[in-house]
Amino acid sequence: MAEWPELPLGEAGTPLIVAPHPDDEILGVAGLMATLGRAELVAVTDGEASHPGSTVHTQAELALIRRAETDEALRRLGLADAVVHRPGQPDGKIDEEALTEVLTGLLSPGRWCLATWREDGHPDHEAVGRAAARACEATGAVLLEYPIWTWHWSAPEDPRVPWDRAFRVPLARNVRDAKQAAIEAFPSQIAPLGPEPADAAILPPHVLARFARPFEVIFR
Ligand SMILES: [Zn+2]
Repeated sequence: MAEWPELPLGEAGTPLIVAPHPDDEILGVAGLMATLGRAELVAVTDGEASHPGSTVHTQAELALIRRAETDEALRRLGLADAVVHRPGQPDGKIDEEALTEVLTGLLSPGRWCLATWREDGHPDHEAVGRAAARACEATGAVLLEYPIWTWHWSAPEDPRVPWDRAFRVPLARNVRDAKQAAIEAFPSQIAPLGPEPADAAILPPHVLARFARPFEVIFR
Protein backbone atom coordinates (compact mmCIF):
# COMPACT_ATOMS: atom_id res chain seq x y z
CA MET A 1 0.00 0.00 0.00
CA ALA A 2 2.99 2.30 0.45
CA GLU A 3 3.35 2.34 -3.35
CA TRP A 4 -0.08 3.78 -4.05
CA PRO A 5 0.43 7.12 -5.77
CA GLU A 6 -0.81 10.26 -4.10
CA LEU A 7 -4.07 11.63 -5.47
CA PRO A 8 -3.35 15.08 -6.91
CA LEU A 9 -5.91 17.46 -5.41
CA GLY A 10 -5.19 20.38 -7.73
CA GLU A 11 -8.33 19.89 -9.81
CA ALA A 12 -10.65 18.83 -6.99
CA GLY A 13 -12.63 22.08 -6.98
CA THR A 14 -15.60 21.67 -4.64
CA PRO A 15 -16.19 17.93 -4.90
CA LEU A 16 -19.61 16.37 -4.71
CA ILE A 17 -19.54 13.70 -2.02
CA VAL A 18 -22.22 11.01 -2.18
CA ALA A 19 -22.92 9.07 1.02
CA PRO A 20 -25.35 6.13 1.21
CA HIS A 21 -25.68 6.51 5.01
CA PRO A 22 -24.70 9.25 7.45
CA ASP A 23 -21.09 8.47 8.48
CA ASP A 24 -19.92 6.89 5.20
CA GLU A 25 -18.72 10.29 3.99
CA ILE A 26 -16.75 10.74 7.21
CA LEU A 27 -15.21 7.26 7.36
CA GLY A 28 -14.28 7.40 3.69
CA VAL A 29 -13.30 10.94 2.80
CA ALA A 30 -13.41 13.22 5.87
CA GLY A 31 -9.69 13.81 5.48
CA LEU A 32 -10.00 14.75 1.83
CA MET A 33 -12.86 17.15 2.63
CA ALA A 34 -10.97 18.75 5.53
CA THR A 35 -7.77 19.05 3.49
CA LEU A 36 -9.61 20.85 0.71
CA GLY A 37 -11.77 22.87 3.10
CA ARG A 38 -14.63 22.49 0.60
CA ALA A 39 -17.33 19.92 -0.06
CA GLU A 40 -20.93 19.53 -1.15
CA LEU A 41 -22.71 16.46 0.22
CA VAL A 42 -25.53 14.29 -1.01
CA ALA A 43 -26.75 12.35 2.05
CA VAL A 44 -28.78 9.77 0.12
CA THR A 45 -30.56 8.14 3.07
CA ASP A 46 -30.91 9.17 6.70
CA GLY A 47 -29.62 5.77 7.84
CA GLU A 48 -32.82 5.00 9.74
CA ALA A 49 -32.38 1.22 9.34
CA SER A 50 -29.10 0.93 11.25
CA HIS A 51 -30.78 -0.74 14.26
CA PRO A 52 -33.74 -2.87 13.19
CA GLY A 53 -35.59 -3.92 16.32
CA SER A 54 -34.06 -1.23 18.50
CA THR A 55 -35.77 -1.01 21.89
CA VAL A 56 -34.54 2.56 22.32
CA HIS A 57 -35.27 4.51 19.14
CA THR A 58 -37.87 4.35 16.37
CA GLN A 59 -36.65 4.60 12.80
CA ALA A 60 -37.99 8.14 12.61
CA GLU A 61 -35.95 9.08 15.69
CA LEU A 62 -32.83 7.44 14.30
CA ALA A 63 -33.20 9.38 11.05
CA LEU A 64 -33.28 12.67 12.97
CA ILE A 65 -30.36 11.64 15.18
CA ARG A 66 -28.18 10.62 12.26
CA ARG A 67 -28.93 13.77 10.25
CA ALA A 68 -27.85 15.86 13.23
CA GLU A 69 -24.72 13.73 13.63
CA THR A 70 -23.68 14.47 10.05
CA ASP A 71 -24.20 18.19 10.60
CA GLU A 72 -22.04 18.07 13.73
CA ALA A 73 -19.35 16.01 12.00
CA LEU A 74 -19.13 18.54 9.15
CA ARG A 75 -18.84 21.32 11.69
CA ARG A 76 -15.92 19.50 13.33
CA LEU A 77 -14.20 19.32 9.93
CA GLY A 78 -14.54 23.07 9.49
CA LEU A 79 -17.29 22.54 6.92
CA ALA A 80 -20.31 23.91 8.77
CA ASP A 81 -21.26 25.89 5.66
CA ALA A 82 -21.15 22.94 3.28
CA VAL A 83 -24.29 22.46 1.20
CA VAL A 84 -26.04 19.20 2.13
CA HIS A 85 -28.68 17.64 -0.14
CA ARG A 86 -31.00 15.14 1.50
CA PRO A 87 -33.10 13.29 -1.07
CA GLY A 88 -34.47 11.16 1.80
CA GLN A 89 -34.26 7.80 0.07
CA PRO A 90 -35.16 4.74 2.14
CA ASP A 91 -32.23 3.09 3.94
CA GLY A 92 -31.73 -0.35 2.41
CA LYS A 93 -33.82 0.37 -0.69
CA ILE A 94 -32.04 3.05 -2.68
CA ASP A 95 -33.76 3.98 -5.94
CA GLU A 96 -30.86 4.04 -8.36
CA GLU A 97 -32.77 5.74 -11.17
CA ALA A 98 -33.97 8.59 -8.98
CA LEU A 99 -30.52 9.03 -7.48
CA THR A 100 -28.89 9.09 -10.91
CA GLU A 101 -31.20 11.96 -11.80
CA VAL A 102 -30.37 13.91 -8.64
CA LEU A 103 -26.63 13.49 -9.22
CA THR A 104 -26.87 14.33 -12.91
CA GLY A 105 -28.47 17.63 -11.93
CA LEU A 106 -25.57 18.48 -9.62
CA LEU A 107 -22.62 17.40 -11.77
CA SER A 108 -20.86 19.11 -14.64
CA PRO A 109 -17.88 18.33 -16.91
CA GLY A 110 -14.69 17.83 -14.92
CA ARG A 111 -16.37 18.09 -11.52
CA TRP A 112 -15.21 15.53 -8.98
CA CYS A 113 -17.83 13.09 -7.71
CA LEU A 114 -16.80 10.88 -4.80
CA ALA A 115 -19.06 7.91 -4.21
CA THR A 116 -18.86 4.56 -2.47
CA TRP A 117 -17.21 1.91 -4.66
CA ARG A 118 -19.55 -0.05 -6.98
CA GLU A 119 -18.34 -3.37 -5.53
CA ASP A 120 -18.03 -2.36 -1.88
CA GLY A 121 -20.03 -5.34 -0.63
CA HIS A 122 -23.12 -3.51 0.69
CA PRO A 123 -26.20 -3.13 -1.58
CA ASP A 124 -26.74 0.56 -0.78
CA HIS A 125 -23.08 1.39 -1.26
CA GLU A 126 -23.01 -0.40 -4.59
CA ALA A 127 -26.24 1.27 -5.77
CA VAL A 128 -24.76 4.68 -4.94
CA GLY A 129 -21.56 3.81 -6.82
CA ARG A 130 -23.51 2.71 -9.89
CA ALA A 131 -25.75 5.79 -9.85
CA ALA A 132 -22.70 8.04 -9.53
CA ALA A 133 -20.95 6.23 -12.38
CA ARG A 134 -23.94 6.73 -14.65
CA ALA A 135 -24.32 10.40 -13.67
CA CYS A 136 -20.61 10.99 -14.31
CA GLU A 137 -20.87 9.30 -17.68
CA ALA A 138 -23.85 11.48 -18.61
CA THR A 139 -22.27 14.77 -17.50
CA GLY A 140 -18.53 14.35 -18.06
CA ALA A 141 -17.87 14.59 -14.33
CA VAL A 142 -14.92 12.67 -12.81
CA LEU A 143 -15.83 9.55 -10.86
CA LEU A 144 -13.76 8.69 -7.80
CA GLU A 145 -14.81 5.78 -5.60
CA TYR A 146 -14.10 5.24 -1.92
CA PRO A 147 -14.17 1.85 -0.23
CA ILE A 148 -15.87 1.35 3.17
CA TRP A 149 -17.00 -2.24 3.68
CA THR A 150 -14.14 -3.39 1.46
CA TRP A 151 -11.87 -3.00 4.48
CA HIS A 152 -13.95 -5.54 6.40
CA TRP A 153 -13.86 -8.34 3.84
CA SER A 154 -10.73 -7.84 1.78
CA ALA A 155 -7.22 -9.05 2.41
CA PRO A 156 -4.10 -7.14 1.34
CA GLU A 157 -3.46 -7.90 -2.34
CA ASP A 158 -7.04 -9.22 -2.61
CA PRO A 159 -7.61 -9.82 -6.35
CA ARG A 160 -11.27 -8.68 -6.07
CA VAL A 161 -10.15 -5.15 -5.24
CA PRO A 162 -8.89 -2.78 -8.00
CA TRP A 163 -5.68 -1.89 -6.19
CA ASP A 164 -4.22 -0.80 -9.55
CA ARG A 165 -6.74 2.09 -9.47
CA ALA A 166 -5.91 3.00 -5.85
CA PHE A 167 -4.60 6.43 -4.91
CA ARG A 168 -3.83 7.70 -1.45
CA VAL A 169 -4.73 10.98 0.19
CA PRO A 170 -2.22 11.61 2.98
CA LEU A 171 -3.68 13.30 6.05
CA ALA A 172 -1.82 15.98 7.98
CA ARG A 173 -1.81 15.65 11.77
CA ASN A 174 -4.50 18.30 12.27
CA VAL A 175 -6.66 16.71 9.57
CA ARG A 176 -6.37 13.29 11.25
CA ASP A 177 -7.43 14.88 14.53
CA ALA A 178 -10.40 16.56 12.87
CA LYS A 179 -11.41 13.28 11.23
CA GLN A 180 -11.27 11.49 14.58
CA ALA A 181 -13.42 14.21 16.15
CA ALA A 182 -15.88 13.91 13.25
CA ILE A 183 -16.14 10.13 13.70
CA GLU A 184 -16.90 10.72 17.38
CA ALA A 185 -19.85 12.88 16.30
CA PHE A 186 -21.72 9.62 15.56
CA PRO A 187 -22.51 8.16 19.00
CA SER A 188 -25.54 6.36 17.50
CA GLN A 189 -23.11 4.25 15.46
CA ILE A 190 -19.97 3.94 17.59
CA ALA A 191 -21.63 3.27 20.96
CA PRO A 192 -24.53 1.00 21.94
CA LEU A 193 -27.95 2.65 22.04
CA GLY A 194 -28.81 0.41 24.99
CA PRO A 195 -28.05 -2.99 26.56
CA GLU A 196 -30.13 -5.12 24.16
CA PRO A 197 -28.32 -6.93 21.30
CA ALA A 198 -30.49 -5.02 18.78
CA ASP A 199 -28.98 -1.81 20.16
CA ALA A 200 -25.33 -2.80 19.81
CA ALA A 201 -22.74 -0.48 18.28
CA ILE A 202 -22.54 -0.71 14.50
CA LEU A 203 -18.93 0.43 14.39
CA PRO A 204 -17.01 -1.17 17.26
CA PRO A 205 -13.42 -0.08 17.96
CA HIS A 206 -11.71 -2.74 15.81
CA VAL A 207 -13.72 -1.56 12.80
CA LEU A 208 -13.10 2.12 13.53
CA ALA A 209 -9.36 1.44 13.74
CA ARG A 210 -9.34 0.88 9.97
CA PHE A 211 -10.45 4.46 9.44
CA ALA A 212 -7.87 6.01 11.76
CA ARG A 213 -5.00 5.59 9.33
CA PRO A 214 -2.93 8.59 8.23
CA PHE A 215 -4.26 8.32 4.68
CA GLU A 216 -7.46 7.66 2.75
CA VAL A 217 -7.79 5.45 -0.30
CA ILE A 218 -9.64 6.40 -3.48
CA PHE A 219 -10.13 4.34 -6.65
CA ARG A 220 -9.82 6.46 -9.78
ZN1 LIG B 1 -23.08 2.86 4.72
